Amino acid sequence: AKGRWNDIWLAGKTDSAPGTLFDKIIAGEIPASVVKEDDHLLAFKDINPMAPAHILVIPKDRSGLTNLRQASAEHTDILGRLLIAAGEIAKDTELGFGDGARIVINDGSDGGQEVMHLHVHVLGGRKLEVRYI
Ligand code: C5P
Repeated sequence: AKGRWNDIWLAGKTDSAPGTLFDKIIAGEIPASVVKEDDHLLAFKDINPMAPAHILVIPKDRSGLTNLRQASAEHTDILGRLLIAAGEIAKDTELGFGDGARIVINDGSDGGQEVMHLHVHVLGGRKLEVRYI
């Protein structure tokens, strides 16, 4: 079943991975609580927050970026944009962030990635344990 989002977001992708629900969020076909948007990226509240503040930052064009392990020099610009946006979000007290945050990328199945469209988690709103697994 190919809808509008498929036509828009699969067109021009440089990999063959299928679109995900994040493409539908980008296309506005699944509602999301958007906190930041520009031509390159979208940030929205995680639907199942793991901390009092939990934002996802995603590239609008996932091309070649199902996950970070696929990244190469051509992605330098978007990767920089994603991290800078994550840092800006992490200091936004109106979103519930306090003095710091944890920035996480789950990469691939062993990393706990469920949505195969690169995304940066920005978690905070309380003092988080030092814990990585
Ligand atoms: O890193 P991972 O792939 O597991 O993260 C996917 C994230 O997308 C989850 O935290 C999940 O809660 C979130 N999600 C969302 N809105 C949806 C579906 C999933 O925020 N409609």
